Amino acid sequence: MRLSRYFLPVLKETPAEAQIASHRLMLRAGMIRQQSAGIYSWLPLGYKVLRNVERIVHEEQQRAGHIPVLMPTMQSADLWRESGRYDAYGDEMLRITDRHGRDMLYGPTNEEMITDIFRGYVKSYKDLPLTLYQIQWKFRDEIRPRFGVMRGREFFMKDGYTFDLTMEDALHAYNRHLVSYLRTYERMGLQAIPMRADGGPIGGDYTHEFLVLAETGESEVFYDSEITDLKFGDREIDYDSVDQCQAVLEEFTSRYARTDETHDEAIFAEVPEERRRSARGIEVGQIFYFGTKYSESMGATVQGPDGKPTPVHMGSHGIGVSRLLGALIEANHDDKGIIWPEGVTPFHVGIVNLKQGDEEADAACEALYKSFETLGLEALYDDRNERAGGKFATMDLIGLPWRITVGPRGLKNGVVEVTCRKTGESEEMTPELAVEKIV
Ligand code: ATP
Ligand code: MG
Ligand code: MG
Ligand code: MG
Repeated sequence: MRLSRYFLPVLKETPAEAQIASHRLMLRAGMIRQQSAGIYSWLPLGYKVLRNVERIVHEEQQRAGHIPVLMPTMQSADLWRESGRYDAYGDEMLRITDRHGRDMLYGPTNEEMITDIFRGYVKSYKDLPLTLYQIQWKFRDEIRPRFGVMRGREFFMKDGYTFDLTMEDALHAYNRHLVSYLRTYERMGLQAIPMRADGGPIGGDYTHEFLVLAETGESEVFYDSEITDLKFGDREIDYDSVDQCQAVLEEFTSRYARTDETHDEAIFAEVPEERRRSARGIEVGQIFYFGTKYSESMGATVQGPDGKPTPVHMGSHGIGVSRLLGALIEANHDDKGIIWPEGVTPFHVGIVNLKQGDEEADAACEALYKSFETLGLEALYDDRNERAGGKFATMDLIGLPWRITVGPRGLKNGVVEVTCRKTGESEEMTPELAVEKIV
């Protein structure tokens, strides 16, 4: 992409309404624009990152054997009356009446609708296990939308639903989700720690929230510091293997790690004092096994091996796709701007032409731009007629992992300058080596 033809409305001033770094930087870098409280347009740069995050989530879900679907954002209230949640959900649900006077709502989540789909088609235990998921917009009329996309009212969520014959099978599905989530966050360059969470009115031990540690997080968390040393890494996992998934769950959840809702001082006191940590975190996902709550109230039964109708065991598993952009920036920025991890960066490299209009500099930039294009890597070429200082500031703000600076003086010696956004280190080398280094 050539910057002269792109739409990158960066702001010089720090927007007064933004209280935390990620919100400030997303506004300043021209990624989002607020349209009403907690409702945002995604401008080109923000949209690109959102798509990258979404793609990683899709890939990891499908690697785990989960099947993508897409349900509507608008739902009929009748489904929610069946489960009893239409009244229970309260003011967070945005309720709408259509022209015929029918009660509708903008879905805050989709347990009812997916259960309706399931019961419409699946009749036998032989069709289980089944996991369907979607990545779709949700609406929750949050009492205090804030921190930009972190707590929006309209937000993008991956929500997956598991259907199994027995509790044992459903817990395998739960573990499989835990593993796939660990992989997902790590691929984005993010450490998200599974913490024991509160099952709410349904109760039960089978729910974990994934938290990214950050001072600006809204959740209070308590954990054994050893847990931050755990990495999933590039190990191979067979998602069908009950033992392998169970082993990962045990490895990642055996140390103390809880949100304030389940925190227990007495158990925490058993952790050696020097390893006890209390901190704040951002909830970027949650997995939840809830048994037959919806299948019983909504009649989602299958014929079991004994021929009898059996309500299926269900779980639901969410990832805050749009919130992740905020979490990623909270975890990766400095005073100059964002520092994108390679996995989600909107462009891989920025090319800065120090002297637009200089024949040699222009030609060298064009050649670099084409090389990256040929290699399938997207470059953002700042070909505007601007001062070098302004170009550097923009590149630092939008946080591409690499910058190549091209100017007549360097070209006289056959070199360009390659700068790593994260370390700030610069090195001179030939344009060919620059491409090799970045690819
Ligand atoms: P929170 O505790 O932050 O209100 P939640 O527990 O109500 O979140 P879930 O129902 O678990 O949310 O939804 C799954 C994921 O969707 C959450 O883990 C979070 O990452 C994301 N999410 C929830 N509410 C919002 C929101 N208002 N804006 C952006 N993302 C959200
Ligand atoms: Mg909530
Ligand atoms: Mg929560
Ligand atoms: Mg939650």
